[in-house]
Amino acid sequence: MNISLETIVSLAKRRGFVFQSSEIYGGLNGCWDYGPLGVELLNNIKREWWQSMTFREDIEGIDAAILMHPKVWEASGHVANFTDPMVDCKECKARFRADQLEDAMCGNPAYKGRKAIKCQEEGKFTEPRQFNLMFKTFIGPVEEDAAIVYLRPETAQGIFVNFLNVLNSSRQKIPFGIAQIGKAFRNEINTKNFLFRTREFEQMEMQYFVRPGDDMKWFEYWKEERLKWFIELGLKKEKLRFSPHPEDKLAHYAKAAVDIEYEFPFGWGEIEGIHNRTNFDLTQHTNYSGKALDYFDDEINEKYIPYIIETSAGASRSFMTFLIDAYHEEEVRGEKRVVLRLHQKLAPIKVGIFPLVNRDGMPEIARKITEDLRRDFRVFYDDKGAVGRRYRRQDEVGTPYCITVDSQTLQDQTVTIRERDSMEQIRIDMNKIREFLKEKLD
Ligand code: ATP
Repeated sequence: MNISLETIVSLAKRRGFVFQSSEIYGGLNGCWDYGPLGVELLNNIKREWWQSMTFREDIEGIDAAILMHPKVWEASGHVANFTDPMVDCKECKARFRADQLEDAMCGNPAYKGRKAIKCQEEGKFTEPRQFNLMFKTFIGPVEEDAAIVYLRPETAQGIFVNFLNVLNSSRQKIPFGIAQIGKAFRNEINTKNFLFRTREFEQMEMQYFVRPGDDMKWFEYWKEERLKWFIELGLKKEKLRFSPHPEDKLAHYAKAAVDIEYEFPFGWGEIEGIHNRTNFDLTQHTNYSGKALDYFDDEINEKYIPYIIETSAGASRSFMTFLIDAYHEEEVRGEKRVVLRLHQKLAPIKVGIFPLVNRDGMPEIARKITEDLRRDFRVFYDDKGAVGRRYRRQDEVGTPYCITVDSQTLQDQTVTIRERDSMEQIRIDMNKIREFLKEKLD
């Protein structure tokens, strides 16, 4: 099914998934706010990722500060290399990434719909300049060079610099990993495609420390594990693919790299990168900090600097991917039905509860069921409008089950439970609702 990004953006706003940042002031480019349902979906994605990592015996979690010692970014190579080539249009003053002109559009309203590449051909652009993507700020009251700090452009460095702390406090042995979820900031030249490229976003990164020589084995292992994670949470297999980086395009620190890509309405795009970072990071931090970040492997009686296999996913980019992948339109009895076929673990609301009509004691029973289920699930009580409408509202946000209290409930204490995708309804005893949902949702 072909859906446009506009459809998703509009649903996201209408139903409270995502709003423009500072919208009443006209918005802030490249920044978005998660609304009531959005924050639930985002938290569910992050929780699933966190559990898939830290419930393992060989992975520990951390939560490092966003602001780090400025030397971290010198050691990592970000101060020197974290740049994109930028060109300016001398006529309309719009700014472009020189390596992404293919899909860029001219910024001049007078030339609406014109490709930026055309402006380049006509010589309207400046020569490319390297633009560092890190946001700078100052620590302390004095705005001087010595006090410059950066908003981290990735969460990975917080893991590398804590390698020894985690190793010594957790009693892990190599191979083991450290996982972290957190905000990252990049002053992207062009933000675009909704949550795909933003200036503030969240990452879910895990760095796996291995013995040199075992690195490619673990690289292959994590590549498969990470693809499986997306598929198990419902993404369509045929919309996913591996895209290996050719050797001549590898980042300065990488021995091998592969992206997991998804086929978005605007084309294939990376949702996660898996990298063999060799011992680059720990070597750099050893050199810059003077602290030996090495490991004594008592199995082989050898000291070495571990190699690192990185899995680096965007939480916000995954959010958009799950939303797009789940979106489905169909015709039911001559009417359009929009349904988000989200995996039930990700669905923001698990159960909708409705009294069929607002009389004869139905609302009271429905309220009681709602309060009863609230302890275990995120539920939503709705008594407004025709019941068909209420079902549709829940379908549109991906709620897997809806319970309706009707006149038969008054006689035999049974309710209908309707499943989102099949729209099948069954009747069950009121006392069995929790048991039923626990079995289906857990
Ligand atoms: P790109 O080439 O698209 O700029 P990248 O290769 O620099 O991305 P990584 O540094 O590998 O990306 O980041 C890891 C993950 O973080 C990406 O797969 C993506 O999911 C997410 N990510 C990176 N940049 C952004 C951004 N500007 N907005 C949202 N998510 C991002």
